[in-house]
Amino acid sequence: MPELLEVEAARAVLEARALGRKIASVVANDAWYLKRGLTSAGVGDALVGRKLAAARRTGKQLLIDTSGIGRSRAAGPVLGLHLGMSGRVVVDGKSAGDPLLYTSNAENPAWLRFGVCFADGGSLWMRDPRRLGAVELDPDESRFGPDATVLDRRGLDRAIGRSRAPLKAVLMDQSRIAGLGNLLTDELLWRAGLDPARAAGGLEPSERVALLRAIRQTVRVLGRRGGSHTGDLQASRAPGGVCPRDGAELLRRTVGGRTTYSCPVHQR
Ligand SMILES: [Zn+2]
Repeated sequence: MPELLEVEAARAVLEARALGRKIASVVANDAWYLKRGLTSAGVGDALVGRKLAAARRTGKQLLIDTSGIGRSRAAGPVLGLHLGMSGRVVVDGKSAGDPLLYTSNAENPAWLRFGVCFADGGSLWMRDPRRLGAVELDPDESRFGPDATVLDRRGLDRAIGRSRAPLKAVLMDQSRIAGLGNLLTDELLWRAGLDPARAAGGLEPSERVALLRAIRQTVRVLGRRGGSHTGDLQASRAPGGVCPRDGAELLRRTVGGRTTYSCPVHQR
């Protein structure tokens, strides 16, 4: 499932290939894919004639600013794209990352859930076999916590608060911290030496320092390696897997509703 690193890679493709191009038509035949009351006709009316002006990201949400029409300086709506479990952004046939990673590489026209055709003949598609992504206009950006890549100590303290929820659940709650999914969270907690099931609000100050350092380090290192699946823990995420640090057999539990691997020896 795409986490912030995969969504950031999609954002970079949009920035490199899609900006400044005029929208000639919109293909939005899958009504279920359009959220918050958006209709096929409505999204076409809102976007045709505009250009894509900037590609932003908060957490796992892609945000594309659009220009005014003609000489109008008033900006157009923000096009929000969510990749869901298996979505990819494809611009002129190009997308980011390993095409086999989260989804089949076979081609099926039905997987093209939403498209923007540019006046220059190119296109932008949301390709999504599992259909769990979404398109909306002017998404409520206040519903996300701070992005994990720019999280600071104050933001972390605010996100954790006095929560008695498991640490892992709090870290993956997009309204508290945006962008962390299952793999990044298991990896960073393993690096920080913290038990995913601990009550988040009970962390000592020194543990919060270690947690923030691990969030930054994990995002930076795995981003450089090429994605959420490139963590040191990844190869051990299987029954019988052992901790790469101390060789202990990993615990496999459900924490925060997700399958979770952690080390019973050094994660406390
Ligand atoms: Zn260990």
